[in-house]
Amino acid sequence: MEINNSRKNKKKICIIGAGPAGLSAAYILTKNNFKVDVYETSNHAGGMARTIELWDQMVDMGPHRFFSSDPRVNNLWLEIVKKDYEMVKRTTRIFYKNKFFHYPIRPLNALMNLGFLESVHCAISYFLAKLKRKNYKSNTFEAWVIDRFGRRLFEIFFKSYSEKLWGLKCSELDSDFAAQRIKKLSLFEAIKTAILGNNFKHKTLVDEFAYPKYGTGMVYERMAAYVSENGNKILYNKKVLSIKNKNKKFSISVDNNNEIIYDTVISTMPITSLINHLNAPENVKNSAKNLKFRNTILVFIKLDNCDPFPDQWIYIHSQELLTGRITNFKNWVPNINKGKSDTILCLEYWCNNEDKIWNESNEYLISLAKKELLHTKLINLHQFISGEVVKIPKCYPIYKSNYKEHLKPIQNYLSKIYNLLVIGRYGSFKYNNQDHSILMGLLAADNLINNNNHNLWELNSDYEYQESSRITSTGLQK
Ligand SMILES: Cc1cc2nc3c(=O)[nH]c(=O)nc-3n(C[C@H](O)[C@H](O)[C@H](O)COP(=O)(O)OP(=O)(O)OC[C@H]3O[C@@H](n4cnc5c(N)ncnc54)[C@H](O)[C@@H]3O)c2cc1C
Repeated sequence: MEINNSRKNKKKICIIGAGPAGLSAAYILTKNNFKVDVYETSNHAGGMARTIELWDQMVDMGPHRFFSSDPRVNNLWLEIVKKDYEMVKRTTRIFYKNKFFHYPIRPLNALMNLGFLESVHCAISYFLAKLKRKNYKSNTFEAWVIDRFGRRLFEIFFKSYSEKLWGLKCSELDSDFAAQRIKKLSLFEAIKTAILGNNFKHKTLVDEFAYPKYGTGMVYERMAAYVSENGNKILYNKKVLSIKNKNKKFSISVDNNNEIIYDTVISTMPITSLINHLNAPENVKNSAKNLKFRNTILVFIKLDNCDPFPDQWIYIHSQELLTGRITNFKNWVPNINKGKSDTILCLEYWCNNEDKIWNESNEYLISLAKKELLHTKLINLHQFISGEVVKIPKCYPIYKSNYKEHLKPIQNYLSKIYNLLVIGRYGSFKYNNQDHSILMGLLAADNLINNNNHNLWELNSDYEYQESSRITSTGLQK
Protein backbone atom coordinates (compact mmCIF):
# COMPACT_ATOMS: atom_id res chain seq x y z
CA MET A 1 0.00 0.00 0.00
CA GLU A 2 1.30 3.48 -0.90
CA ILE A 3 1.56 5.54 2.23
CA ASN A 4 2.02 9.29 2.31
CA ASN A 5 5.02 9.67 4.56
CA SER A 6 5.41 13.42 4.37
CA ARG A 7 2.26 14.45 6.20
CA LYS A 8 2.45 15.39 9.88
CA ASN A 9 -0.89 15.13 11.60
CA LYS A 10 -1.94 16.84 14.77
CA LYS A 11 -5.04 14.72 15.35
CA LYS A 12 -5.01 12.51 18.46
CA ILE A 13 -6.04 8.93 17.89
CA CYS A 14 -7.04 6.41 20.53
CA ILE A 15 -6.70 2.72 19.71
CA ILE A 16 -8.42 0.25 22.00
CA GLY A 17 -6.64 -3.11 22.09
CA ALA A 18 -3.07 -4.19 21.33
CA GLY A 19 -3.97 -7.29 19.32
CA PRO A 20 -3.10 -7.81 15.62
CA ALA A 21 -5.79 -5.36 14.42
CA GLY A 22 -5.04 -2.54 16.87
CA LEU A 23 -1.26 -2.85 16.56
CA SER A 24 -1.28 -3.00 12.76
CA ALA A 25 -3.22 0.28 12.74
CA ALA A 26 -0.93 1.77 15.41
CA TYR A 27 2.21 0.71 13.50
CA ILE A 28 1.12 2.28 10.19
CA LEU A 29 -0.15 5.45 11.88
CA THR A 30 3.10 5.83 13.84
CA LYS A 31 5.10 5.42 10.63
CA ASN A 32 3.07 8.28 9.23
CA ASN A 33 3.69 10.59 12.17
CA PHE A 34 0.25 10.38 13.70
CA LYS A 35 -0.23 10.83 17.43
CA VAL A 36 -1.55 7.55 18.81
CA ASP A 37 -2.27 6.14 22.27
CA VAL A 38 -3.01 2.41 22.47
CA TYR A 39 -4.92 1.17 25.52
CA GLU A 40 -4.60 -2.50 26.36
CA THR A 41 -6.41 -4.14 29.21
CA SER A 42 -3.81 -6.91 29.67
CA ASN A 43 -0.09 -6.61 30.28
CA HIS A 44 0.99 -7.91 26.86
CA ALA A 45 0.90 -7.25 23.11
CA GLY A 46 -0.69 -9.64 20.62
CA GLY A 47 -4.17 -10.29 22.05
CA MET A 48 -5.25 -13.81 21.18
CA ALA A 49 -2.22 -14.13 18.92
CA ARG A 50 0.29 -13.59 21.74
CA THR A 51 3.14 -15.95 22.60
CA ILE A 52 3.92 -16.71 26.23
CA GLU A 53 6.82 -18.32 28.10
CA LEU A 54 5.80 -21.61 29.64
CA TRP A 55 8.09 -24.12 31.34
CA ASP A 56 11.03 -22.26 29.80
CA GLN A 57 9.65 -22.74 26.28
CA MET A 58 7.39 -20.57 24.11
CA VAL A 59 3.79 -21.33 23.23
CA ASP A 60 0.96 -19.64 21.34
CA MET A 61 -2.67 -19.59 22.40
CA GLY A 62 -3.46 -22.76 20.45
CA PRO A 63 -2.22 -23.26 16.89
CA HIS A 64 -1.51 -19.98 15.09
CA ARG A 65 -0.74 -20.57 11.44
CA PHE A 66 -0.35 -17.32 9.51
CA PHE A 67 -1.44 -17.36 5.89
CA SER A 68 -2.50 -14.65 3.49
CA SER A 69 -2.55 -14.25 -0.26
CA ASP A 70 -2.93 -10.46 0.03
CA PRO A 71 0.35 -8.67 -0.84
CA ARG A 72 -0.56 -5.74 1.45
CA VAL A 73 -0.75 -8.06 4.46
CA ASN A 74 2.23 -10.18 3.44
CA ASN A 75 4.41 -7.11 2.84
CA LEU A 76 3.60 -5.72 6.26
CA TRP A 77 4.25 -9.10 7.91
CA LEU A 78 7.64 -9.40 6.18
CA GLU A 79 8.53 -5.79 7.02
CA ILE A 80 8.11 -6.66 10.71
CA VAL A 81 9.37 -10.23 10.78
CA LYS A 82 12.25 -9.62 8.32
CA LYS A 83 14.17 -12.89 7.92
CA ASP A 84 13.22 -14.22 11.34
CA TYR A 85 10.82 -16.88 10.10
CA GLU A 86 10.90 -20.42 8.87
CA MET A 87 8.65 -22.30 6.50
CA VAL A 88 6.74 -25.06 8.28
CA LYS A 89 5.56 -28.08 6.32
CA ARG A 90 2.03 -28.59 7.46
CA THR A 91 1.21 -31.95 9.02
CA THR A 92 -2.29 -32.14 10.44
CA ARG A 93 -4.74 -34.97 10.89
CA ILE A 94 -8.28 -35.66 12.08
CA PHE A 95 -8.91 -38.11 14.91
CA TYR A 96 -12.21 -39.88 14.36
CA LYS A 97 -13.40 -43.25 15.69
CA ASN A 98 -9.91 -44.01 17.01
CA LYS A 99 -8.34 -43.52 13.58
CA PHE A 100 -6.17 -40.75 12.18
CA PHE A 101 -7.20 -39.25 8.83
CA HIS A 102 -4.71 -37.03 7.04
CA TYR A 103 -5.99 -33.49 6.57
CA PRO A 104 -5.84 -32.29 3.79
CA ILE A 105 -7.41 -35.56 2.80
CA ARG A 106 -5.32 -38.24 1.11
CA PRO A 107 -7.72 -40.49 -0.79
CA LEU A 108 -5.94 -43.77 -0.03
CA ASN A 109 -5.60 -43.03 3.67
CA ALA A 110 -9.28 -41.99 3.85
CA LEU A 111 -10.34 -45.13 1.99
CA MET A 112 -8.30 -47.40 4.28
CA ASN A 113 -9.63 -45.73 7.44
CA LEU A 114 -13.26 -45.59 6.34
CA GLY A 115 -13.30 -49.06 4.85
CA PHE A 116 -14.89 -50.08 1.56
CA LEU A 117 -18.56 -50.00 2.65
CA GLU A 118 -18.33 -46.63 4.41
CA SER A 119 -16.53 -45.19 1.36
CA VAL A 120 -19.33 -46.41 -0.93
CA HIS A 121 -21.85 -44.87 1.50
CA CYS A 122 -19.98 -41.54 1.27
CA ALA A 123 -19.88 -41.70 -2.55
CA ILE A 124 -23.62 -42.46 -2.84
CA SER A 125 -24.56 -39.68 -0.45
CA TYR A 126 -22.28 -37.28 -2.37
CA PHE A 127 -24.02 -38.05 -5.67
CA LEU A 128 -27.48 -37.81 -4.05
CA ALA A 129 -26.58 -34.34 -2.78
CA LYS A 130 -25.49 -33.32 -6.27
CA LEU A 131 -28.84 -34.51 -7.69
CA LYS A 132 -30.83 -32.61 -5.05
CA ARG A 133 -28.73 -29.48 -5.27
CA LYS A 134 -31.16 -27.35 -7.29
CA ASN A 135 -33.75 -27.40 -4.50
CA TYR A 136 -31.34 -26.82 -1.66
CA LYS A 137 -31.27 -23.55 0.24
CA SER A 138 -27.80 -23.48 1.73
CA ASN A 139 -28.30 -20.76 4.31
CA THR A 140 -27.29 -23.00 7.20
CA PHE A 141 -23.87 -24.51 7.71
CA GLU A 142 -25.34 -28.02 7.50
CA ALA A 143 -27.07 -27.40 4.17
CA TRP A 144 -24.00 -25.64 2.77
CA VAL A 145 -21.68 -28.54 3.53
CA ILE A 146 -24.10 -31.29 2.50
CA ASP A 147 -24.60 -29.42 -0.75
CA ARG A 148 -20.90 -29.72 -1.55
CA PHE A 149 -19.80 -32.94 0.15
CA GLY A 150 -22.91 -35.08 0.73
CA ARG A 151 -24.53 -35.97 4.07
CA ARG A 152 -22.25 -38.82 5.06
CA LEU A 153 -19.00 -36.87 4.63
CA PHE A 154 -20.66 -33.98 6.48
CA GLU A 155 -21.38 -36.33 9.40
CA ILE A 156 -17.84 -37.68 9.49
CA PHE A 157 -15.70 -34.66 8.74
CA PHE A 158 -17.70 -31.56 9.71
CA LYS A 159 -20.60 -32.19 12.12
CA SER A 160 -19.04 -33.14 15.45
CA TYR A 161 -16.10 -30.73 15.19
CA SER A 162 -18.31 -27.77 14.27
CA GLU A 163 -20.84 -28.59 16.98
CA LYS A 164 -18.04 -28.74 19.57
CA LEU A 165 -16.62 -25.46 18.34
CA TRP A 166 -19.86 -23.48 18.22
CA GLY A 167 -22.00 -25.26 20.80
CA LEU A 168 -24.86 -25.22 18.28
CA LYS A 169 -26.38 -27.78 15.96
CA CYS A 170 -25.02 -27.31 12.44
CA SER A 171 -28.59 -26.64 11.30
CA GLU A 172 -28.62 -23.57 13.62
CA LEU A 173 -25.31 -22.23 12.37
CA ASP A 174 -25.20 -19.65 9.58
CA SER A 175 -23.60 -20.72 6.31
CA ASP A 176 -21.33 -17.63 6.58
CA PHE A 177 -18.97 -19.70 8.72
CA ALA A 178 -18.51 -22.16 5.89
CA ALA A 179 -18.58 -19.52 3.18
CA GLN A 180 -15.85 -17.52 4.91
CA ARG A 181 -13.62 -20.41 5.89
CA ILE A 182 -14.09 -23.21 3.37
CA LYS A 183 -15.36 -21.16 0.46
CA LYS A 184 -15.08 -22.85 -2.93
CA LEU A 185 -13.78 -26.04 -1.33
CA SER A 186 -15.59 -29.09 -2.62
CA LEU A 187 -14.90 -32.79 -2.53
CA PHE A 188 -13.57 -32.57 -6.05
CA GLU A 189 -11.17 -29.76 -5.10
CA ALA A 190 -9.98 -31.55 -1.96
CA ILE A 191 -9.19 -34.65 -4.02
CA LYS A 192 -7.57 -32.52 -6.72
CA THR A 193 -5.31 -30.98 -4.07
CA ALA A 194 -4.44 -34.44 -2.78
CA ILE A 195 -3.40 -35.54 -6.27
CA LEU A 196 -1.79 -32.39 -7.65
CA GLY A 197 -0.19 -31.34 -4.36
CA ASN A 198 1.61 -28.02 -4.63
CA ASN A 199 0.16 -27.15 -8.03
CA PHE A 200 -3.27 -26.48 -6.62
CA LYS A 201 -4.07 -24.94 -3.28
CA HIS A 202 -7.26 -24.00 -1.56
CA LYS A 203 -6.55 -21.59 1.32
CA THR A 204 -7.88 -24.09 3.86
CA LEU A 205 -5.52 -26.75 2.56
CA VAL A 206 -2.26 -24.81 2.25
CA ASP A 207 0.54 -27.25 2.95
CA GLU A 208 3.34 -24.88 3.94
CA PHE A 209 3.27 -21.68 5.97
CA ALA A 210 5.65 -19.06 7.30
CA TYR A 211 6.03 -19.00 11.08
CA PRO A 212 8.04 -16.46 13.14
CA LYS A 213 11.13 -17.91 14.82
CA TYR A 214 10.05 -16.77 18.29
CA GLY A 215 6.34 -17.53 18.07
CA THR A 216 3.35 -15.80 16.52
CA GLY A 217 3.39 -13.07 19.18
CA MET A 218 6.82 -11.92 17.97
CA VAL A 219 5.09 -10.01 15.14
CA TYR A 220 2.96 -8.00 17.54
CA GLU A 221 5.69 -7.46 20.14
CA ARG A 222 7.80 -5.92 17.37
CA MET A 223 4.93 -3.72 16.18
CA ALA A 224 4.37 -2.57 19.78
CA ALA A 225 8.09 -1.86 20.24
CA TYR A 226 8.15 0.25 17.06
CA VAL A 227 5.13 2.27 18.21
CA SER A 228 6.58 3.05 21.63
CA GLU A 229 10.11 3.70 20.34
CA ASN A 230 8.76 6.22 17.84
CA GLY A 231 6.97 8.69 20.06
CA ASN A 232 3.63 6.98 20.72
CA LYS A 233 2.34 5.14 23.76
CA ILE A 234 1.12 1.62 24.46
CA LEU A 235 -0.61 1.78 27.82
CA TYR A 236 -0.82 -1.73 29.29
CA ASN A 237 -3.13 -2.74 32.14
CA LYS A 238 -5.47 0.04 31.03
CA LYS A 239 -9.03 -0.96 30.30
CA VAL A 240 -11.21 1.51 28.44
CA LEU A 241 -14.41 1.79 30.47
CA SER A 242 -16.39 4.41 28.65
CA ILE A 243 -16.43 6.33 25.40
CA LYS A 244 -18.54 9.45 25.04
CA ASN A 245 -18.78 11.24 21.76
CA LYS A 246 -19.31 15.00 21.88
CA ASN A 247 -19.03 17.47 19.01
CA LYS A 248 -17.07 15.15 16.74
CA LYS A 249 -14.57 14.31 19.51
CA PHE A 250 -14.39 11.40 21.93
CA SER A 251 -13.89 11.48 25.64
CA ILE A 252 -12.40 8.21 26.88
CA SER A 253 -12.31 7.08 30.46
CA VAL A 254 -9.79 4.47 31.52
CA ASP A 255 -9.85 2.74 34.90
CA ASN A 256 -12.15 5.48 36.23
CA ASN A 257 -9.42 8.08 35.90
CA ASN A 258 -9.92 11.48 34.31
CA GLU A 259 -11.41 11.65 30.87
CA ILE A 260 -9.05 12.07 27.93
CA ILE A 261 -10.12 13.69 24.66
CA TYR A 262 -9.37 12.17 21.23
CA ASP A 263 -10.30 13.12 17.68
CA THR A 264 -10.63 9.55 16.49
CA VAL A 265 -11.16 6.13 18.08
CA ILE A 266 -10.23 2.79 16.56
CA SER A 267 -11.88 0.10 18.64
CA THR A 268 -11.01 -3.60 18.69
CA MET A 269 -12.82 -4.29 21.99
CA PRO A 270 -15.79 -6.71 21.82
CA ILE A 271 -18.52 -5.00 19.81
CA THR A 272 -21.08 -5.80 22.49
CA SER A 273 -19.01 -3.98 25.17
CA LEU A 274 -18.48 -1.05 22.81
CA ILE A 275 -22.24 -0.64 22.41
CA ASN A 276 -22.67 -0.48 26.19
CA HIS A 277 -19.81 1.99 26.58
CA LEU A 278 -21.26 4.27 23.93
CA ASN A 279 -24.65 4.57 25.56
CA ALA A 280 -26.37 3.46 22.37
CA PRO A 281 -30.16 3.57 21.75
CA GLU A 282 -32.24 0.80 23.34
CA ASN A 283 -32.89 -1.10 20.08
CA VAL A 284 -29.16 -1.23 19.35
CA LYS A 285 -28.42 -2.38 22.91
CA ASN A 286 -31.05 -5.10 22.56
CA SER A 287 -29.49 -6.26 19.31
CA ALA A 288 -26.10 -6.44 21.02
CA LYS A 289 -27.58 -8.67 23.73
CA ASN A 290 -28.37 -11.19 21.00
CA LEU A 291 -24.79 -11.44 19.75
CA LYS A 292 -22.86 -14.12 21.56
CA PHE A 293 -19.24 -15.18 21.73
CA ARG A 294 -17.79 -18.56 22.51
CA ASN A 295 -14.93 -18.99 25.00
CA THR A 296 -11.88 -21.24 24.80
CA ILE A 297 -10.12 -23.10 27.59
CA LEU A 298 -6.54 -24.01 26.72
CA VAL A 299 -5.00 -26.81 28.73
CA PHE A 300 -1.23 -26.99 28.26
CA ILE A 301 0.36 -30.32 29.12
CA LYS A 302 4.09 -30.88 29.62
CA LEU A 303 5.38 -34.31 28.61
CA ASP A 304 8.65 -35.87 29.53
CA ASN A 305 11.27 -36.47 26.87
CA CYS A 306 9.12 -37.71 23.98
CA ASP A 307 7.85 -36.94 20.47
CA PRO A 308 4.27 -38.17 20.73
CA PHE A 309 3.14 -37.33 17.17
CA PRO A 310 4.45 -35.48 14.10
CA ASP A 311 1.50 -33.09 13.55
CA GLN A 312 1.45 -29.37 14.37
CA TRP A 313 -2.14 -29.97 15.45
CA ILE A 314 -4.79 -32.67 15.32
CA TYR A 315 -8.53 -32.03 14.96
CA ILE A 316 -10.54 -34.18 17.36
CA HIS A 317 -13.81 -35.18 15.72
CA SER A 318 -14.57 -38.10 18.05
CA GLN A 319 -17.73 -37.25 19.97
CA GLU A 320 -16.66 -39.11 23.11
CA LEU A 321 -13.88 -36.56 23.64
CA LEU A 322 -14.68 -32.99 24.68
CA THR A 323 -11.49 -31.49 23.33
CA GLY A 324 -11.65 -30.21 19.76
CA ARG A 325 -7.99 -29.77 18.86
CA ILE A 326 -4.56 -30.78 20.16
CA THR A 327 -1.47 -28.75 19.29
CA ASN A 328 2.09 -30.01 19.57
CA PHE A 329 4.49 -27.05 19.84
CA LYS A 330 7.52 -29.26 19.22
CA ASN A 331 6.56 -29.51 15.56
CA TRP A 332 6.52 -25.80 14.64
CA VAL A 333 10.01 -24.27 14.66
CA PRO A 334 12.95 -25.40 16.84
CA ASN A 335 13.47 -21.99 18.54
CA ILE A 336 10.21 -22.02 20.48
CA ASN A 337 11.10 -25.35 22.05
CA LYS A 338 14.53 -23.94 23.04
CA GLY A 339 16.24 -27.30 22.54
CA LYS A 340 14.35 -28.90 25.42
CA SER A 341 13.56 -32.61 25.38
CA ASP A 342 10.15 -31.97 26.99
CA THR A 343 7.15 -31.51 24.72
CA ILE A 344 4.29 -29.08 25.30
CA LEU A 345 0.84 -29.97 23.99
CA CYS A 346 -2.27 -27.80 24.13
CA LEU A 347 -5.83 -29.14 24.24
CA GLU A 348 -8.68 -26.76 23.36
CA TYR A 349 -12.11 -26.85 24.98
CA TRP A 350 -14.77 -24.50 23.63
CA CYS A 351 -17.66 -23.39 25.82
CA ASN A 352 -20.10 -20.64 26.83
CA ASN A 353 -19.98 -18.60 30.05
CA GLU A 354 -22.84 -20.56 31.55
CA ASP A 355 -21.34 -24.00 30.81
CA LYS A 356 -20.11 -25.95 33.82
CA ILE A 357 -16.69 -26.56 32.28
CA TRP A 358 -15.92 -22.80 32.07
CA ASN A 359 -15.98 -22.59 35.88
CA GLU A 360 -14.15 -25.85 36.61
CA SER A 361 -10.90 -25.73 38.59
CA ASN A 362 -7.53 -25.98 36.87
CA GLU A 363 -6.92 -29.35 38.57
CA TYR A 364 -10.14 -30.71 37.09
CA LEU A 365 -9.32 -29.40 33.60
CA ILE A 366 -5.77 -30.77 33.67
CA SER A 367 -6.96 -34.20 34.74
CA LEU A 368 -9.65 -34.12 32.03
CA ALA A 369 -7.03 -33.26 29.39
CA LYS A 370 -4.76 -36.02 30.65
CA LYS A 371 -7.60 -38.56 30.53
CA GLU A 372 -8.55 -37.52 27.00
CA LEU A 373 -4.95 -37.66 25.78
CA LEU A 374 -4.60 -41.16 27.16
CA HIS A 375 -7.81 -42.12 25.34
CA THR A 376 -6.27 -41.11 22.00
CA LYS A 377 -3.26 -43.35 22.83
CA LEU A 378 -1.00 -40.51 21.70
CA ILE A 379 0.75 -40.52 25.08
CA ASN A 380 1.21 -42.91 27.96
CA LEU A 381 0.80 -42.17 31.64
CA HIS A 382 4.53 -42.05 32.45
CA GLN A 383 5.15 -39.20 30.02
CA PHE A 384 2.86 -36.73 31.81
CA ILE A 385 4.70 -34.14 33.93
CA SER A 386 2.34 -31.24 34.61
CA GLY A 387 -0.41 -28.97 33.27
CA GLU A 388 -1.34 -25.30 33.05
CA VAL A 389 -4.65 -23.64 32.10
CA VAL A 390 -5.36 -20.42 30.20
CA LYS A 391 -8.96 -19.26 29.71
CA ILE A 392 -9.78 -16.95 26.78
CA PRO A 393 -13.23 -15.36 26.96
CA LYS A 394 -15.17 -14.13 23.92
CA CYS A 395 -12.84 -15.47 21.26
CA TYR A 396 -15.26 -16.87 18.65
CA PRO A 397 -18.12 -14.66 17.37
CA ILE A 398 -21.02 -17.11 17.05
CA TYR A 399 -22.62 -17.04 13.60
CA LYS A 400 -26.01 -18.27 14.80
CA SER A 401 -28.43 -18.48 11.90
CA ASN A 402 -30.05 -15.05 12.49
CA TYR A 403 -26.97 -13.20 13.73
CA LYS A 404 -26.95 -10.78 10.79
CA GLU A 405 -30.39 -9.43 11.77
CA HIS A 406 -28.90 -8.40 15.11
CA LEU A 407 -25.60 -7.16 13.71
CA LYS A 408 -27.17 -4.92 11.06
CA PRO A 409 -28.71 -2.26 13.41
CA ILE A 410 -25.41 -2.16 15.30
CA GLN A 411 -23.45 -1.62 12.10
CA ASN A 412 -25.88 1.10 10.99
CA TYR A 413 -25.57 2.89 14.32
CA LEU A 414 -21.76 2.66 14.49
CA SER A 415 -21.29 3.66 10.84
CA LYS A 416 -22.95 7.00 11.59
CA ILE A 417 -20.56 7.93 14.37
CA TYR A 418 -18.00 10.25 12.91
CA ASN A 419 -14.39 9.06 13.27
CA LEU A 420 -15.16 5.85 15.12
CA LEU A 421 -13.60 2.88 13.32
CA VAL A 422 -14.54 -0.58 14.47
CA ILE A 423 -12.21 -3.43 13.53
CA GLY A 424 -10.91 -6.84 14.68
CA ARG A 425 -12.23 -10.27 15.46
CA TYR A 426 -14.52 -9.57 18.38
CA GLY A 427 -14.31 -5.85 17.59
CA SER A 428 -16.36 -6.19 14.42
CA PHE A 429 -17.93 -9.61 15.11
CA LYS A 430 -16.11 -11.32 12.25
CA TYR A 431 -14.48 -14.73 12.38
CA ASN A 432 -11.08 -13.20 11.57
CA ASN A 433 -7.77 -14.93 11.37
CA GLN A 434 -4.66 -12.83 12.04
CA ASP A 435 -4.38 -11.82 8.38
CA HIS A 436 -7.91 -10.40 8.31
CA SER A 437 -7.33 -8.45 11.52
CA ILE A 438 -4.02 -7.12 10.18
CA LEU A 439 -5.77 -6.02 6.99
CA MET A 440 -8.53 -4.30 8.93
CA GLY A 441 -5.89 -2.39 10.93
CA LEU A 442 -4.05 -1.48 7.77
CA LEU A 443 -7.15 -0.20 5.99
CA ALA A 444 -8.41 1.69 9.05
CA ALA A 445 -5.04 3.47 9.16
CA ASP A 446 -5.22 4.15 5.43
CA ASN A 447 -8.68 5.73 5.85
CA LEU A 448 -7.20 8.19 8.33
CA ILE A 449 -3.90 8.85 6.57
CA ASN A 450 -5.10 9.19 3.01
CA ASN A 451 -8.75 10.11 3.64
CA ASN A 452 -9.74 6.89 1.99
CA ASN A 453 -13.11 5.33 2.47
CA HIS A 454 -12.56 1.57 2.72
CA ASN A 455 -15.76 0.05 4.04
CA LEU A 456 -14.37 -1.98 6.92
CA TRP A 457 -17.73 -3.70 7.52
CA GLU A 458 -17.60 -5.23 4.08
CA LEU A 459 -14.30 -6.90 4.77
CA ASN A 460 -15.17 -10.52 5.43
CA SER A 461 -12.64 -13.24 5.81
CA ASP A 462 -13.62 -14.51 2.34
CA TYR A 463 -12.57 -11.27 0.62
CA GLU A 464 -10.47 -11.54 -2.51
CA TYR A 465 -7.87 -9.06 -3.64
CA GLN A 466 -7.02 -8.48 -7.27
CA GLU A 467 -3.34 -9.33 -6.76
CA SER A 468 -2.17 -12.55 -5.18
CA SER A 469 1.03 -13.38 -3.35
CA ARG A 470 2.48 -15.82 -0.84
CA ILE A 471 5.38 -15.87 1.56
CA THR A 472 8.07 -18.39 0.71
CA SER A 473 11.47 -19.15 2.24
CA THR A 474 13.01 -16.44 0.05
CA GLY A 475 10.42 -13.72 0.66
CA LEU A 476 7.30 -12.63 -1.19
CA GLN A 477 6.33 -14.51 -4.33
CA LYS A 478 3.73 -12.97 -6.65
C1 LIG B 1 -7.50 -21.05 19.90
C2 LIG B 1 -7.28 -20.08 18.77
C3 LIG B 1 -6.62 -20.50 17.62
C4 LIG B 1 -6.39 -19.60 16.57
N1 LIG B 1 -5.73 -20.04 15.47
C5 LIG B 1 -5.40 -19.15 14.49
C6 LIG B 1 -4.61 -19.56 13.37
O1 LIG B 1 -4.22 -20.71 13.23
N2 LIG B 1 -4.30 -18.61 12.45
C7 LIG B 1 -4.68 -17.30 12.58
O2 LIG B 1 -4.29 -16.49 11.73
N3 LIG B 1 -5.47 -16.91 13.59
C8 LIG B 1 -5.83 -17.79 14.55
N4 LIG B 1 -6.61 -17.39 15.61
C9 LIG B 1 -7.22 -16.06 15.56
C10 LIG B 1 -6.31 -14.91 15.96
O3 LIG B 1 -5.81 -15.10 17.26
C11 LIG B 1 -7.16 -13.65 15.88
O4 LIG B 1 -7.67 -13.51 14.57
C12 LIG B 1 -6.43 -12.38 16.19
O5 LIG B 1 -5.76 -12.43 17.41
C13 LIG B 1 -7.46 -11.25 16.23
O6 LIG B 1 -6.81 -10.04 16.44
P1 LIG B 1 -7.65 -8.79 16.96
O7 LIG B 1 -6.69 -7.69 17.13
O8 LIG B 1 -8.81 -8.62 16.08
O9 LIG B 1 -8.26 -9.24 18.38
P2 LIG B 1 -7.54 -9.71 19.71
O10 LIG B 1 -6.37 -10.57 19.43
O11 LIG B 1 -8.64 -10.29 20.54
O12 LIG B 1 -7.06 -8.36 20.38
C14 LIG B 1 -7.96 -7.47 21.00
C15 LIG B 1 -7.24 -6.82 22.18
O13 LIG B 1 -8.12 -5.84 22.77
C16 LIG B 1 -7.94 -5.84 24.17
N5 LIG B 1 -9.14 -5.24 24.79
C17 LIG B 1 -10.41 -5.72 24.79
N6 LIG B 1 -11.23 -4.89 25.44
C18 LIG B 1 -10.49 -3.83 25.85
C19 LIG B 1 -10.78 -2.63 26.58
N7 LIG B 1 -12.00 -2.36 27.03
N8 LIG B 1 -9.77 -1.76 26.82
C20 LIG B 1 -8.50 -2.02 26.39
N9 LIG B 1 -8.17 -3.16 25.70
C21 LIG B 1 -9.15 -4.04 25.43
C22 LIG B 1 -7.75 -7.33 24.48
O14 LIG B 1 -7.11 -7.51 25.73
C23 LIG B 1 -6.90 -7.79 23.30
O15 LIG B 1 -5.53 -7.73 23.58
C24 LIG B 1 -6.87 -18.27 16.66
C25 LIG B 1 -7.53 -17.85 17.82
C26 LIG B 1 -7.76 -18.73 18.86
C27 LIG B 1 -8.47 -18.26 20.09
